[in-house]
Formats: sequence, C-alpha cells, structure tokens
Amino acid sequence: MAGSALGPRVLLKRLREVMAEPVAAQKRLDKIVKVIAANMVAEVCSIYVMRPGDVLELYATEGLKGEAVHKSKLKTGEGLVGTIAEEAIGLNLAEAQDHPAFKYLPETGEEIYHAFLGVPIMRAGTVIGVLVVQNRTRRHYTEEEEEALQTTAMVLAEVIASGELREVASEVAADVAHVRSHVIRGDSLAEGVALGYAVLHEPRVVILNLIAENVPAERKRLEDAIHQLRTHVDELLDGSDAQRATEYSDVLETIRMFAHDKGWVNRLREAIDTGLTAEAAVERVQNDNRARMMRTPDPYLRDRMHDLDDLSNRLLRILTGAMATASRSDLPQNAIVVARNMGPAELLDYDRTKLRGVILEEGGKTSHVAIVARALGIPAVGQAEGLIDLVDTGSPLIADGGTGEVFVRPTADLQKAYAEKVRFYAKKQAQYAALRDVPAISKDGVKIELNINAGLIVDLPHLHDSGAEGIGLYRTELQFMLAQRFPRLTSQIRHYATIIEQARGKPVTFRTLDIGADKILPYLRQPKEENPALGWRSIRMSLDRPALLRLQLRALMLAADGAPLKVMFPMIADVDEYKRAIEVVEIEKVYLLKRGHRLPQPLKLGVMIEIPSLIWQLDHLLPQVDFASIGSNDLVQFLFASDRGNPKLAGRYDPLSPAALGAMRQIVEKAEQHGKPVTLCGELGGRPLEAMGLIGIGLTSISMVPSAVGAVKAMVRTLDRGRLWSFMEPLLRSPLHSIRPELLEFAQRNGVVL
Ligand code: PEP
Ligand code: MG
Repeated sequence: MAGSALGPRVLLKRLREVMAEPVAAQKRLDKIVKVIAANMVAEVCSIYVMRPGDVLELYATEGLKGEAVHKSKLKTGEGLVGTIAEEAIGLNLAEAQDHPAFKYLPETGEEIYHAFLGVPIMRAGTVIGVLVVQNRTRRHYTEEEEEALQTTAMVLAEVIASGELREVASEVAADVAHVRSHVIRGDSLAEGVALGYAVLHEPRVVILNLIAENVPAERKRLEDAIHQLRTHVDELLDGSDAQRATEYSDVLETIRMFAHDKGWVNRLREAIDTGLTAEAAVERVQNDNRARMMRTPDPYLRDRMHDLDDLSNRLLRILTGAMATASRSDLPQNAIVVARNMGPAELLDYDRTKLRGVILEEGGKTSHVAIVARALGIPAVGQAEGLIDLVDTGSPLIADGGTGEVFVRPTADLQKAYAEKVRFYAKKQAQYAALRDVPAISKDGVKIELNINAGLIVDLPHLHDSGAEGIGLYRTELQFMLAQRFPRLTSQIRHYATIIEQARGKPVTFRTLDIGADKILPYLRQPKEENPALGWRSIRMSLDRPALLRLQLRALMLAADGAPLKVMFPMIADVDEYKRAIEVVEIEKVYLLKRGHRLPQPLKLGVMIEIPSLIWQLDHLLPQVDFASIGSNDLVQFLFASDRGNPKLAGRYDPLSPAALGAMRQIVEKAEQHGKPVTLCGELGGRPLEAMGLIGIGLTSISMVPSAVGAVKAMVRTLDRGRLWSFMEPLLRSPLHSIRPELLEFAQRNGVVL
C-alpha cells in the first residue's frame, strides 16, 4: 500500500460505498474484507467478532478457508487474535509463527501466511472484535499501514455495534460488554434502594458520519471546535460558570492542559487526514488513548484517562451540537442518573417525580450533591468506579444506597429480591408513619426530643411527615452554596421567612454560615490552604468578615419578625470566639432597634460543640449560652484526627467507642450541671444503634436526617434507658476499640427494635 495519507482515504471511500449498499449483514462483511485486502495489498483480511463468553469468532475472511467462518473460535488471551483482544493492543509481526502466543487453527489454512498485522476493534474503550491482515511474504507492515488498519477498525466498530449483525448471530458482544450483569461496590451516599433505568447525566454522543466527504472542511470543523472548547474551559475556570468550576476545578485544570496539548491536537489532525470526519477523529484518538492508558499500571495516569474522556466528550458535543446534560431531556419513569460527578444544582434540575436514584463514579459522602440527595430522599451511591463504561441510557440498574452496591443489568432473581426489599422498606416506613403522632418516650418513661436536620426548602415537608418536633440544625450554607452569587439581604430574608412559615410554629435552630473545608462558595475567593478542615473556615471566617455575619443575623432577625428565633454558631474553639460572635449579635440588635424593627422574642443563642478544646472550657462557656448542640461529625473527626471525608479512614475509628462516647458524656454531664439544654445534630443521631448509645449516655434530644426519625422513635419506645446506662457505664471505662458489639447484643437481649 502506498505510504501516504491517500491510501486510507481511498479505502474509507470504498468502505462508505459498501456500507451504503442495501445488502445483508454477512454479505456486507464479506465485501468489506475484500475491499480491505485489496486496498492493503494483503492476501488475507479477517474479521473476528467478540461473542458473549469472551469468545472471538471468525465472522468474515478474504484469503482463509471459507468453511472456517463462524467455526474458528478463540478465547480472549488465546492465540494472536485473543492476545490482541485481551491487551487491546495491535500486533505487527513479520513471522506470526515465531510469536509465543501463536495458535495454529488447521481449518483456516493459514500456515502459508507469515506476515501478520492485527488491531483491536474498540468501542467506548471495550474490545468488541479484532481485524487482521496477513501476507505470504515475511515483512513488517509500515506505520501508515497500521494506522490505516486502525482507522478501518473504527469504522467496523460501528458496523458491529449497529445491531445489524443480529441477522448473523442472535447475540454478539457488540453492545460493548453491555450485555452482562455486573456488580460494582461503591460507597453509600444516601439511604434507600432504587430500581430503574440508567440515564447518563452527560449523554454519550452518537457519531453517525464517520467517513469524511471533504477532508479540508473536516479540518476546519475541528479547528473551530477546538477553539470553542478552549474558550469554554477557560471560561469555566475563570469563573463565569463558577458553580460548576469549583466542583471540578482540579479536573478542569487537567482538561485545560490537555486542550492545549499539541500532541493531542496533532493526532486529531492526522486522523482527519486519513479520511475520517472530525468527530470520528476525536473518537479514534480517544480509543487509542484509552487503550494506552488502560495498560499503564500507574493509577494516577489511569485517572487522567477520565479527564481525557471528559475532554473528548466536550469536543464531540461541540462538533455534533448534542445537549450537555440529560436533566432537561424527557426522563423515563424510574430514572437512575449516572454521572462521573455533578454539582448539587444539577441534581435539583432533574424532574423529581421520575428520579429514583443517583450513582456517581466519584462523589464522597460529604459532597454537596450527596447532601442534596439525602435532603431529597433520593437513594445515592458514590465511588462506583467504571460504571459509565458499562451502561447505556436505558440499562436496568439497582442502586443500593444502604450497602453502596450497584447492580448493572441485574438478573431476574436479584430484581425480585430487591423489589421485595423495596416493599419491605415501604412497609417499615408505613409502620413508622403510624408512629408519627405518638411521643418518643422510652419504656422507663424518659421523653426524647427528636428533631430533623435540614438545609433546603425541600426539606420542610419532612418536618411534618416525620413527626419531628422541630429542626435541630438548619444548615444555612446550603442556600449560599447553591447560589450563583452571595445572596443579598432580601433573598436571605425571604429564604428564612419561608422556612419559619413552613415550620408552622415548630422551632428551627438556624446555624450561621459554616463554610470552608469541603463547603465552598464558588463566588467567594478563598486562599488555598494546606489543611482546609483545620483552616480559615466557619465562625473563624465570619468573625474576620463580620459584615457577612451581620448581614445574615439581620436577615434572620427580620425574618423572625418578632417571633421566637434560635441561632447557633459553628466551629467555636474557645469561649472568646463565642463572646465575639455574641457581640456581633448585640451590634445588630441595636442596628435593628434604631430602625424601628421588632427583635425576635425570645432570641436564643447557642454553641455547636464540635472542636474538642471546648470540652475543657464548658464551665466558662455554658453559663453564657442558651443551649448547646454537639456536632459529632466534626467532633469525632477532630478527636481521632481522622478526615471525615476520606473513604480510606471510614470505619477506622468508631464513634461508639469509650473515647468518643466518654467525651460526649462529659458534655452532657456539664450541661446538666449548668442547667442548659444540650442536643446532638451529627449524622450519628440518625442510626438507631448509635442513637441508642447516645441516649444511653444521657442525651434526651437528637437531630437527624428526616428519614431516620421513624426508626429512631421505634427504638426509643422499646428501650429501657436506665438499664442501658447501667450496662454502658463500666464499658465506657474499658480500653475497647468500640462497644458496638456489646450494644448490639444489649439491644437483642432486651428486645430493642433497631
Ligand atoms: C457536625 O459537624 O456534626 C455537623 C452537624 O455539622 P456539619 O456536618 O455541617 O459539619
Ligand atoms: Mg460540623
């Protein structure tokens, strides 16, 4: 074959003609192998197609014996063809029989051919077949010939994946390994089970035109699209779409680097020169990248593959004008949205009447999207690695938000089992609903106040359906995180007034802005810090920027409009900080009175205890507060010096340990001594066994995710608190890592419903 770009172009032109012919699938493949063999001056051209069970079957050949078609089969990893499929890499051999993997298939009559060039046929990163040419003479194929065969393989991938081959065999693995069931073990982000169908948040772009009619025009399309892409990524990073940018700024930085990478752009240009359309060139280059990166043992580089995928998809969307996300598309019933990652606002964009679940390839438990999923009561799983490659829009899925498991194309048995689980869950919810109006009183007569945590207006209906007594923690920062700019006074007043109004007289404890660490305001420039969780955040920022705090306090007091109001301050580390926060409240009260506004009646001010240093200042602190709330998420993180968002540390230390429970017990005792109410609003409170332990150490008020109120109430009503404390007291003095097993046994022995 001529060593110029013209060779592949002629070949592609001929292939286009063959593909347009109205012939049956087998005939088309027979013609294709002939065209390739002739164009590449090869005596043999064969196509092997991946069938279910990782078997490569000879589907068409020019040059090998015709009777071998549909008979010759090789397992993945077997022979040269199987090796190409296994490793997703081409083989260029002057003497095929010298290769250690060579396997002789007598029915093909291939022994007379020596030179061998084979390439994988790939689609969306998965090998779905192998394309081979062979020659009698011992020779090395040129780089151009290898390129030409790869380009041809890409066109063939479309033929194989088009479904046309079903005429030839009932099932080919052409749906990109998209026929098998898979289980992925991720992390639970939001409880509950979702059964439904995948909706790719960023839909895959379907390329219809692979072969260029006019190469210079395709080149121009590519250049224009790359220009647009660079501008788009720059804009994202420079803040015109700041909300998204902060979510992904690391990823975007990498993408920007690739978008300006000359090697990548050159390879795209070269692919077009072989006769592909601009979009086909993008896919072709991305297939090569994926194959290369999948072979690298370096996990960092493998991660970058996703960034390159992102970049290619963005470019494809520009080229084809496809929509960016599926949120505005017509969702199927029972949609389960699948994304690499997404921001909270993007999740809120979906039609909630059809949305059953969310699965993210990344996404940690404390990510904002997870918080929103929990608020909406949508089961969610994170860290579901590799899922996007396994699903198409419409693939059946089960997301188990309890265990973090994701089942792709679940078997009928599994679906039945899960449908049963959903029914069981619904039945339990119905039983809990029946408890809605009964009080949470323990068997030995202790009244426990159950409240909910909230942060969005959508949470408010849960306050009433759950039967909770109030909102123990209103995370005001969520409104700030979802906004495009700092919410103005009027919008803050409107928001708080809506919450107060919808709470219909039930008390709401508003927490002042708790930003920093993982809670980023996209529009607020924050310095990069070595340890953001220990950094300039929360009340520290509020005290340094009192104007923000004043504005928020003003909005809260105006929204209360003379009614009762409860406000608490997060991340207080010492008494002095609390005093300074109160001083800001006093200044604001004077400001409002001067202007003739009514102050909240009463205004109760509280402290969150989530930094261990406060435990040794309680005698000074408690007399100055109206109430205290234990923020166990942060308190436990700082007690054990264990990052709450790091999945590697999840479960390493147990809040049900003598250390953590002992620390919280001290707080409860001090609060009792000072006659100040104390509650707890960390995630712990929403798990029945943990909540039992908390009640054991003397807490009589807990705030939790709304979906947990029923289960916790059922537990309380079957618990003898006095007996539990007698059981726990000696354990708290033990050196145990955790007293979880003991508490579980206590519950079982005493009939406590968990
Ligand atoms: C906590 O730290 O326990 C808490 C309730 O606050 P957040 O989870 O918002 O940090
Ligand atoms: Mg906290």
